[in-house]
Amino acid sequence: MIIPWFNLNRQHIILEKELEKAVKAVFKHCNFRMGEEVKKFEEAFARYCGTKYCIGVGSGYDAILLSLEALGVGPGDEVITVPNTFISTVTPILRLGAKPVFVDINHKTHQIDVEELQKVITQKTKVILPVHLYGIPCQMDEIMQIAKKYSLYVVEDACQAHGSAFKGKKCGSFGSLGAFSFYPAKNIGAPGEGGAVVTNSKQLYQKVWLLHNMGERQRYKHEFVGYNSHLDTTIAAVLLIKLKYLEGWNEKRRKLAKLYKNLLLDLPIILPSEDKNGKLNFYVYVIRTNKREKLMQFLKNNGVSSTIHYPIPLHLQKALKKLGYKKGDFPVTEKLSKEILSLPMFPELTEKEVRYVCTVIKKFFEG
Ligand SMILES: *Cc1c(COP(=O)(O)O)cnc(C)c1O
Repeated sequence: MIIPWFNLNRQHIILEKELEKAVKAVFKHCNFRMGEEVKKFEEAFARYCGTKYCIGVGSGYDAILLSLEALGVGPGDEVITVPNTFISTVTPILRLGAKPVFVDINHKTHQIDVEELQKVITQKTKVILPVHLYGIPCQMDEIMQIAKKYSLYVVEDACQAHGSAFKGKKCGSFGSLGAFSFYPAKNIGAPGEGGAVVTNSKQLYQKVWLLHNMGERQRYKHEFVGYNSHLDTTIAAVLLIKLKYLEGWNEKRRKLAKLYKNLLLDLPIILPSEDKNGKLNFYVYVIRTNKREKLMQFLKNNGVSSTIHYPIPLHLQKALKKLGYKKGDFPVTEKLSKEILSLPMFPELTEKEVRYVCTVIKKFFEG
């Protein structure tokens, strides 16, 4: 058996007719920029997230960048986030001339440690940027309380958390703004790049809207220096179809996760922690073992591909050297980066395939 850790083609075969129809419609009306599909998708995605507004943008990176800029983040400001995330959580902070401040993660949840978080708040802190990594919700009740106590904004990096929820409320809908990505491998994947900002604030909605449209309210009247960052109409048309299936897909991922759990329970590996307050979308299924490299190779030899989210913590990345962090600064993140392994996970993965993956893992540990 050959099992990919992710595969979009299976989904597209199932949706082929529907997608073809939607894309053809766009090629007929030719409003490739800000066509009616964009508006429809924005409305539907806001409804899905339980927020009043949504603005489609060019990527998850742009969603974070525009969110921070809408709050006025700039030189002299500090933004608190974690080092165990994709680099695009942090590069927007630097692009705006502000300073990312890292906090280590909780070893159980792999999410921002709320105790540590309070220790790094300074006069310069403007925003807390929690990342719902792997689709595991951060402790949003405590984070919102801390933000309130210190008068800070919260921007959620929900780029991996479409449909995840904390205490029944969707990720992305807690903070002033929530940022999503539709990168192809995400739970709802675009045929290209795409992202979205969600918010309940009309004022922030208007600000992000102008930012994503070159500061232009009326044609050729520019109020400030903005960006040209859009969800293309063709991409929105595809996402509009896919959004109808997202809940069902997430449900399938949860079912596969349950199967993984049942089959791997007795092995010397640590499985994803599940908190009764969190509803996970299982963007990835991350296990932990101190035999990571060997297990990864063994899986590969048996036709199973796996991956690592992420092998190098951000504070040890060459690109972020200037921040002045060093090895040992975030021990939990550093330890986990050597032990984590993402197993195959996508809604079209079959139970038979999951069983096979687990048989291989069992063989490895019994071997
Ligand atoms: C995917 C991702 C991003 C960036 O999204 P892009 O659409 O690739 O720009 C940011 N943060 C996290 C946690 C992500 O997983």
